[in-house]
Amino acid sequence: MDRADAIVVGGGPSGVISAITIADAGYRVVILDKKSREKIGNKSCGDALDHIAPDLLKEKFGIEYPSGSELPSPIEYITFASQSLQNKMTANAPGYIVHRLNYGQRLLKVAESKGTEIIGGAKVRDLIWEGDQIVGVKFHKDGELQELKSNVVIDASGYVGTVRKLIRGELKQGVDYSVSNDNTVATYREIVRLDQEHSYKNEILLLYHDSIPIPGYAWIFTDGSKQLNIGVTWPKNIPYPDNKSLKQIYHEVLDPLVDPKTYEVLDSGGGQIPIRPPFDSLVFNGALLVGEAGCMVDPTTAEGHGPSLISGYLAGKAVLDAMKKQSFRKADLWSYNKEVMKYPGSTHAMSYQALQFIKWLGPSGFSFLFRRKIISEEELIEIFQTRDFTLTFWNKILKVLKTLPRVSILLNLRKTIALIEETDKHYREYPDSPDNFIGWLNKRKRLVPFD
Ligand SMILES: Cc1cc2nc3c(=O)[nH]c(=O)nc-3n(C[C@H](O)[C@H](O)[C@H](O)COP(=O)(O)OP(=O)(O)OC[C@H]3O[C@@H](n4cnc5c(N)ncnc54)[C@H](O)[C@@H]3O)c2cc1C
Repeated sequence: MDRADAIVVGGGPSGVISAITIADAGYRVVILDKKSREKIGNKSCGDALDHIAPDLLKEKFGIEYPSGSELPSPIEYITFASQSLQNKMTANAPGYIVHRLNYGQRLLKVAESKGTEIIGGAKVRDLIWEGDQIVGVKFHKDGELQELKSNVVIDASGYVGTVRKLIRGELKQGVDYSVSNDNTVATYREIVRLDQEHSYKNEILLLYHDSIPIPGYAWIFTDGSKQLNIGVTWPKNIPYPDNKSLKQIYHEVLDPLVDPKTYEVLDSGGGQIPIRPPFDSLVFNGALLVGEAGCMVDPTTAEGHGPSLISGYLAGKAVLDAMKKQSFRKADLWSYNKEVMKYPGSTHAMSYQALQFIKWLGPSGFSFLFRRKIISEEELIEIFQTRDFTLTFWNKILKVLKTLPRVSILLNLRKTIALIEETDKHYREYPDSPDNFIGWLNKRKRLVPFD
């Protein structure tokens, strides 16, 4: 059988951008996706996408911003609310509500225009090895098990992590490549068409609700003037109360806010989202993990679309460097680890630390912060424009808290800020080669303790 330079397993956001980046330099890329060709890109999602990744795609490849049928609505604001919609803060957060299928299909066409072959209905089942080197995949297509060889295999298969699960134990360098229930949320969402225009124009709203344990939340996102994308996330390590289903919880929380008598349900679905920083190393001899297969999701907001696009680009760049050397060992692909740990890795690790504080605070503590205006709207803007938990921001909070009597909040916040600062530094000091990895990993486990 024919050979590819790179095989990409999955044609969602992370896969398609990996393919575009590599094919743009003239290499032969094949995307294999288990979905039929015309359905690749479709996904149950909140559909929110911030501006960072589309800006990058425009700058690097001239890919136009989402528009027309790909853009049910632009986003201008993000609102955080707590307990009820009375306690809330709104900040500027430019971005997009995208039609996942239409936008995803356009990106696939860009990949094809650069020579990428896209094979739908192709479910990857196994890897082909030569010694400790991954050199291709085995996939089911039209009832037959087929083989395709390549220099590199990129796992862009999303939450399931098809390739990741097939990596042999001795090649894992002590990294646990499973995602625990503690670091996963289950989701359910509906897209609804209302009788009348809604009041969430260009807005996305995240609600920390008393009935949903944090890190879970409810969301109400605009999806055009008469449509909303509404849903809930629920921590997978906590059973649903009284044997309820997530759909029942969704109705209990959201029906008082968006009356079901006023809408028709156009689409419903859900899924699981990993909410932890990326795996500590994302490269193996002949393979890389991108997007959700590598856990590129912001732990606090559960946004994974933009980080997945960006990780696809960074992985593609590392593959191009390896192509020049024609060597695809872990060390040859290591620059991907280094780049991705700066962004989104460091931001997501800091977000994970902040999330532990938010969990401890709970919805009522959050309301307290909002009511006392401890986090100002300008400071929220600062976070959402820089997409960074900058120390200036946290130190401002600390200064205001000093004047308040809630000493336990102050103490815990002070500890969180110190941890955030150290975490940021640690991810930015990711080793240049695999040689110093174990020392880095051990310190990461102490600083950000999870597995
Ligand atoms: C309900 C819900 C709401 C969300 N809301 C938001 C949001 O509002 N904003 C945001 O930024 N993120 C959101 N996310 C997360 C976001 O959808 C994902 O992080 C993002 O799609 C990940 O992109 P990906 O390319 O890594 O994987 P995916 O988009 O999951 O794509 C993976 C692809 O791999 C294919 N595949 C899987 N296994 C195989 C196999 N064995 N062989 C071949 N192909 C395979 C699949 O068919 C699929 O096409 C949400 C997720 C859910 C579930």
